[in-house]
Order: sequence, then structure tokens, then C-alpha cells
Amino acid sequence: MLKEAQIILKKYFGYTTFRKGQEQIISSILNGSDTLGIMPTGGGKSICYQIPALLFEGTTLVISPLISLMKDQVDALNDFGIPSTYINSSLSYSELRERLNLAARGKFKLLYIAPERLESEQFRELLNSISVSLLAIDEAHCVSQWGHDFRPSYLAISALIKSLPKRPIVAAFTATATESVKNDIAGHLTLKDPDIFVTGFNRENLRFSVVKCKNKSDFLIDYINGHKNQAGIIYAATRNQVDKLHDLLKRKGFAVGKYHAGLSDGERAANQDDFLYDNINVMVATNAFGMGIDKSNVRYVLHFNMPRAMESYYQEAGRAGRDGEPGECILLYGASDIHIQKFLIEQSLLSPERKATEYKRLQNMVDYCHTSRCLRKYILEYFGEKEVPESCSNCGNCDDDLELTDITVEAQKIFSCVKRMGEQYGSGLVCGVLHGSGAKKILHLGFDKLSTYGIMKDYSVKEIGDLINLMTAEDYLHVTEGQYPVVKLTPKAYAVLKGIEKVNQKVSKKKEDPKDDFTLFDILRSLRKTISEHEKVPPYVIFHDSTLKEMCKYYPTTERAMLDISGVGESKFGKYGQQFIEAIQEYVQKQGIQVDASYTSKTSSKGKDNTPSHTITYRMYLDRKTPEEIAKERDMTVITIQEHLVRCWQEGQEVNWDMFIPKKYEALILQAVQKVGSQRLRPIKDELPDEVDYFGIRAVICKYGK
Ligand code: ADP
Ligand code: MG
Ligand code: ZN
Repeated sequence: MLKEAQIILKKYFGYTTFRKGQEQIISSILNGSDTLGIMPTGGGKSICYQIPALLFEGTTLVISPLISLMKDQVDALNDFGIPSTYINSSLSYSELRERLNLAARGKFKLLYIAPERLESEQFRELLNSISVSLLAIDEAHCVSQWGHDFRPSYLAISALIKSLPKRPIVAAFTATATESVKNDIAGHLTLKDPDIFVTGFNRENLRFSVVKCKNKSDFLIDYINGHKNQAGIIYAATRNQVDKLHDLLKRKGFAVGKYHAGLSDGERAANQDDFLYDNINVMVATNAFGMGIDKSNVRYVLHFNMPRAMESYYQEAGRAGRDGEPGECILLYGASDIHIQKFLIEQSLLSPERKATEYKRLQNMVDYCHTSRCLRKYILEYFGEKEVPESCSNCGNCDDDLELTDITVEAQKIFSCVKRMGEQYGSGLVCGVLHGSGAKKILHLGFDKLSTYGIMKDYSVKEIGDLINLMTAEDYLHVTEGQYPVVKLTPKAYAVLKGIEKVNQKVSKKKEDPKDDFTLFDILRSLRKTISEHEKVPPYVIFHDSTLKEMCKYYPTTERAMLDISGVGESKFGKYGQQFIEAIQEYVQKQGIQVDASYTSKTSSKGKDNTPSHTITYRMYLDRKTPEEIAKERDMTVITIQEHLVRCWQEGQEVNWDMFIPKKYEALILQAVQKVGSQRLRPIKDELPDEVDYFGIRAVICKYGK
């Protein structure tokens, strides 16, 4: 059976290898055991029940918590060529009847159901007519009150299991694995002696960092500017903050949307769609924007405020890089974040003991922001992993992306001013004194007589304020809570004042963008966008970024080469393959890129008897066949065959180029080549009438080139 699972992985999903844990989970389900799969967000849980669904007789019921997501999931499956549908409250009664009828006749391999429906006994009875072989429960932690997304209707799942005529295999999936949640899942879902698989929490493609910056908004704007065209999520702690950031970014001209519980359902849905469909790049949101954002090409998740607990942080940050391509998770730490979170805990309706737990989690989060050890190690150990390596070389504390600037003198000026002002005033007044402001209050208090008055007059008030923020984040200064926050020194600051310790500011070195083939990527991206609008599914449902990236690397221009690309299965090839092949061919020709056709396939570069593909073409050419005829016979494109001929010629074989040169234009083409050079074909073509094709130009270059 596992062999068949492997075949399905390739045929339907277009992937060649299973990810960590998928194989074990799938075989456990195929063996008929109840199974609990614990994998990080983006780990690939869905395939663990979708593949068994295809191998089992009958239908797999999937319980999934989010109505908004169900349609996308089902669209994606149908796009893979897997017949599926969903049932939730958005359907009319007649639609519901029709889908149930079709399901009873075995028309669907997967049937997604919103948990709320299960609360009705009547509805559960309707499911009796369906032959259910597997019951898959996604986001299974929703059954536990200890999790962060408790959904009472998940408790009705056990009644469903009992009511079905034949007990199905039950498989549950989650990314949350604390002991209490695990026990709740096994117990409340009445799993029978389940096999439990925990695949580990590491997400290698994500880079974690904590940034203590002078000014968060400035950082944000710089960052987004440096990552234009990439999708990212900015999480902020409160609705108010989201509104403010959204306005700010909008004013700066970025394509942003926002999401929080204060917006109407309609606004939220529209903004979410804009993000999923790549109409906007940046989503500013509270943690309400969340569970089940399956968009796979989110390249960065930036936390403007520190979240309350590592559980939420890792889940939110984990929305980056689900496609396995690099993702960046940056937490912008500011000391006042602690106050916000404490305030939110205080205000909550939790019992005193739960509050105590929350305070402890908050402290762990603060420690994460301050540790100088490997951030990945910190996270993984927090989630209970053992034997984690000391360094990961892909986090803000491991890699050497940072340059240190000595700001000890500035720090000493600030600290001594705070001290001279008696540690009794807020940041604004301290800035004023250092800058040498003539404000009434400063003169009235006699601070213009202090030796520190105006010693930072070369700095703007904002710059001094930013430095104070930084000193606070780095724990040199402490800002008290309450209505009138006051700046005080910590023991660390005294060490600096005494000259025992230095203060360094970490500045990240600007990294050069790797010279990827961005133009082709952009072309393919926009093709994907066009198709997505036409088919009304989000772009990432058509192909993931990682799939497009692979195309940019291998330039697949044949069916076989295209099917070798990870993420291109048979159904997708049938629907979109040709359009992408054409776009790539056009690009390759325009750029005059030598696509070595015999190597365009990642896995197989040779013909059956080990004869290179271009040599086979050459033999046929010697048999006086035209490129069109050869292409037809070999089931390849004409362009590939033309490339073969060029290659043979480069390797020293004779090719009669005159056959391919339009006589009437030969002189003109030659002139154009002499005028603009033969490095790139595009400029040559621009010099010529439209009917001269690229191969005609190549032929002239070859003929006269030798
Ligand atoms: P989860 O539900 O665990 O958060 P998903 O099931 O949504 O994760 O999968 C995340 C992404 O990984 C999806 O885009 C999926 O297509 C992709 N994926 C899953 N399994 C594989 C695999 N074996 N090879 C490559 N990509 C995979
Ligand atoms: Mg999932
Ligand atoms: Zn590290």
C-alpha cells in the first residue's frame, strides 16, 4: 500500500518525496489504526489523510473548523483531480440534500464538514447513508479547553463516531502538543489505542530573529520597502494599533489590508481574499487573523508587538514559508510590549490560577526576546524537544548578519541625564533636556542648569527618543507602568556609567539579494495571477511559489520536464502545463538562453538507450525530417528540437542553416546582428519585421558565427 501512496503523491500532488512523518502517519492509517499526528504548521498534515482517502473505498469525512477555508481546501483538491465537496452553514437546504445524495452514491473521496453541523442529531443521522471509511479531524486541539482555540462543537465528534453504522478509522491532526491537549484529544475524540506521531517542531526554512530597534515604524517601512512583491503579515497587539499601522503603510503607498475583530464580517472576508489572491502584499492584523491561513507563499511574518506566549508566537510566525521556501520571522521587541500584555492578562476573565500560568508564559516570551543563545534552540526546547543542537546558523543569534556600533557615549549622556533629573520624569522631558529645549516646564524646573542640558543638541528629539526606546528594550532603562510612566536606571546602566561596560547597537548588514531569475519568476507569477482570476481560486492553489521557482531553475519546456517539477501532478499539468511551458519557451527565446534540452528534465537526461536526446534529434534531422516533424514524432515542442540542433552544431556537427533562414531577410538580419551584437536576441528582433522569428535569427548567427 505504501508504494501506492508514493505513486499518488506524485500523480496527484506532483511531489516526489514525503516530508518528515508523513509516511509513518499514512501507513498507520492504512493499517487501520486510529492515529494522532502532531506536526508543525506547514508540516504537511493534510496529505496525511488525503492520500489514505484516495486509497480507501468509500468516503473520508473531514472535520475542519473554518468555514472560510473549506471552500479553498475543496477547490484545491478538485484542482488536483480529487473529487471532493464540503457541507457548512453557507449552503441552502437543496444544495445540502444534493451534496448528501451524491455523497451517498460515493461520488466524493473527501467530504469536509463544519463541526457545528454535528451538534444536530438529525444531521448526524443523514450521514448514516454514507459509507465512511476514515474520519479525519483537522486542528484537533480545538476539542481541548486547554488549547487556545476551544470549539465546543468539537465535543460532538464522539457522538458522530458512535452514530455511524460502522466505526471508521479515526485520525486526528494538530500542531499543538502539550500533554494536557494531547490527553484531551485522545479522550474527547474517543480514539482507540491511537498511534501517536510527533514529528518535531523545527521549521528549517524559517529564520527567526528578535529586533530591538530604535523606531519600530521606521523599521517596518524599510523592511517592506526591501521586500516589495513579497507577501507578508504584520501582527500587532491591538485593533487600534492595527488601524494606525495600516494607515501609515497606506500613506506610504504600500498595497496593504487589515484584519481584526472590529471590522464587519464582509470587510474581513474581502480583505482576506485580497491577501489570498495576491491583490495586496501586506496584511496588518491582530491575532484574529489566523488559524487556517493556508496561503503558502507568505514570505515574512513580522510581529510589531511581542505576543503573550510562545505557543501563539510560533503558530503565527509559522504562517511564513509553508511552501518550504525561505521565510522570515521577525519579532520587534519594545519594552512597553510587556505592559500591554500584562494589561491584557489583568483585564481578562481568567481564573487567578490561569492568570498565573499566563504570566509565566509571558515571562518565557520575554526571555526569548533577551536570550543571546540560538533562538531556534530556545523555541524547540520550550516545546519539549531534547538534544537540540547549540546553534542553527539560521537565526538572528546564530548568523553573523549583525554589525556592532559602539554607542556607549550616547548611552552615558542619557543615563547621567536621567539620574540628574532624579529618575522622576518621562521620556519626553528627558529628551527635551538632552536636546536643550527651551520648553517652559524645563526652565521652570531649572533643568537648563543641569550639566547634561543640551549635551545632545546634535540629535533631534525623535532620535534621542529612539535611543531611549532601544536602551529600554536592552534593559538599561526601565519605564514604570501607570498613567505617568517614569524613566529609571537599571543596575546594567550603572555599570555603563562607571565605564565598566560598553553599549553596542546591533545593525543588520544589508544583504545583497541573490541574483535569481526574478524576471521569469515575475512572468510566471503574473500568468498564475491571470489564471487565478479566471478560475476564481487563489494563486497558490494553482502553483506554489516553490514550484514556480523550480521552473525558473530548470526551464522545463517539455511535458516530461514539466512533470518532473515538484508540485506539478497530472491534473495540474493537464490544466495549466501548456500555458507555463509556452511562457517559459518565449522567455528562453527572448533572452537567448541556451536550454540544454537533453538536460531540461531534472531526473532523466538521456534517451532509453543512453543516447543523448539531442543526438536522437540530429539523426532524424539527417534523415531529412523537419523540426516540426521531429517534434511531432518525439512528442516534444518545436522549440526544443530547434535547441537540439543548435547544440549539435555547437558540438561540431554540420547543420545546414540555410534551410531555416528566410532568404528575403537574411541580409537584414545580418545587418541587425552587426548593429546590436549577438549577445541577446531580443534587441535583434526589435530591429526586424515581426514575421522574422527567433529561430531565423539564431540560424543566421550560427551560419555566420563560425
Ligand atoms: P499543515 O496543515 O500541516 O499546516 P499543509 O497540509 O497545509 O500543512 O501543507 C503545507 C504545504 O506543504 C502545502 O502547500 C502542501 O502542498 C505542501 N506539502 C505537503 N506535503 C508535501 C511534500 N511531501 N512535498 C512537498 N510539499 C508538500
Ligand atoms: Mg492544516
Ligand atoms: Zn540559531
